[in-house]
Amino acid sequence: MFEKAFFKFMKILPASSENIKKAAEFIKNGKLVAFPTETVYGLGADGLNPIAVSKIFEAKNRPTFNPLILHIADKSDLEKLAETGNQLIYKLIDKFWPGPLTLVLPKKDVVPEIVTAGNPTVAVRMPDHPVALELIKLSGRPIAAPSANAFGELSPTTAQHVVKQLGKKVDIILDGGSCKVGVESTIIGFVNEEPVLLRPGGIPLEQIESVTGQLKKHYTESEDSNPLSPGRLPFHYSPNIPIRFFDDKMETETRTKRVGALFFKEPGVKLNFAKILFLSKNGDTKEAAANLFSALHELETSGLDLIYVEPVPETGLGIAIMDRLKKAVKKYEK
Ligand code: AMP
Ligand code: MG
Repeated sequence: MFEKAFFKFMKILPASSENIKKAAEFIKNGKLVAFPTETVYGLGADGLNPIAVSKIFEAKNRPTFNPLILHIADKSDLEKLAETGNQLIYKLIDKFWPGPLTLVLPKKDVVPEIVTAGNPTVAVRMPDHPVALELIKLSGRPIAAPSANAFGELSPTTAQHVVKQLGKKVDIILDGGSCKVGVESTIIGFVNEEPVLLRPGGIPLEQIESVTGQLKKHYTESEDSNPLSPGRLPFHYSPNIPIRFFDDKMETETRTKRVGALFFKEPGVKLNFAKILFLSKNGDTKEAAANLFSALHELETSGLDLIYVEPVPETGLGIAIMDRLKKAVKKYEK
């Protein structure tokens, strides 16, 4: 009873056709709509309306130097927003769109400066989620959408995660269940016509390289400012309690603190942890990515003092998972 009233107040709506239509009207009217994608839940606004877009920055407390991704529902809409001269662009979108691949390309004038944080390039992707696609189509414009969480914190992979962090700051939350991929998109940009990896994400690097050949990588864990990928900060994706990778102090810590553990696979040895979760019973990185943020949200709200996390092998989606974990851990390093 209470739960129902609570969600009504927070405007969580099941993603029915009728509610998607309603949400599209909200977008057209310059309001904020949180919606599911295959990666994580997005906090969307009309990507061609600078005032609507400014509400995203305000709701998330996101620095305005951090540019947003525009989401489209039709591949041909890319040309309206960006220059598409490079031959590789069509090879990539033919293979990976709709899907978790974002392309950073020279922008056209129609794209407001606030979306690109003043950069001459714009980031665009076509999500692989029926609710997101329908919402974009019915709004009739690209939707600017970062993840629907407070800046720097855990990304949401359910509608309830969005409520936990943004609550009343969103006008409508469309509930489309859990996100299948669970980590943000892979971002590719171009430097002197050469493709460059700006962020590892939901499409494994190996698959992208099967189209592009070996990619230059332009992201690090420690860089403070990265002109090619503004907004990639040294720490990010962090739970609001300390998190560390497994280390030799772990056993001692479990004697004096309530320590939670996040294992990659089903654990063999169980120390005196207050709570244990694992990402994938059999060590599948795809399954692990889908469970990553949910597991961290659960640990964050389990009354723990500290979270220990096991490193994941850096193959397939393990690269994107480790990118998120390293940034989460970084916040609490002395
Ligand atoms: P997200 O925070 O997941 O919505 O992803 C946005 C990220 O995409 C930013 O933090 C940048 O790293 C990247 N990005 C977006 N727009 C651009 C752009 N114009 N140039 C370079 N990177 C961009
Ligand atoms: Mg984000």
